[in-house]
Amino acid sequence: MSTIFSKIISREIPADIVYEDELCLAFRDVNPQAPVHVLIIPKKPMPRLVDASAEDQSLMGHLMLVVGIVARQLGVEDAFRLAVNNGAEAGQSVFHLHLHLLAGRSFKWPPG
Ligand code: AMP
Repeated sequence: MSTIFSKIISREIPADIVYEDELCLAFRDVNPQAPVHVLIIPKKPMPRLVDASAEDQSLMGHLMLVVGIVARQLGVEDAFRLAVNNGAEAGQSVFHLHLHLLAGRSFKWPPG
């Protein structure tokens, strides 16, 4: 299923891309919830986190390493929150797996 994020990967629609490699893309959220709000997505379409399978093990690990790369690149490596909304009830609105990297303000726990 094609989503708006597929169109960002294929450059059909623009995005403020901050990192790219052969497996993933990171770009600024169009509706930021913090001074730094970047979405890190696999180029392989995967609707939800729970849809990852054993064959995605290295890709999933790679995404986690890219979180660190992007956080350091943006100078927020000492304080950020990583969030994944899995399913509409959890707040997911785009069904292409994405990691929210949020930073630049304080965060509450538990999250709302
Ligand atoms: P979620 O609610 O977890 O599915 O997050 C989807 C995120 O994608 C939201 O934070 C949106 O603001 C963001 N978003 C939607 N369309 C775009 C776009 N074209 N470029 C950048 N971010 C987007």
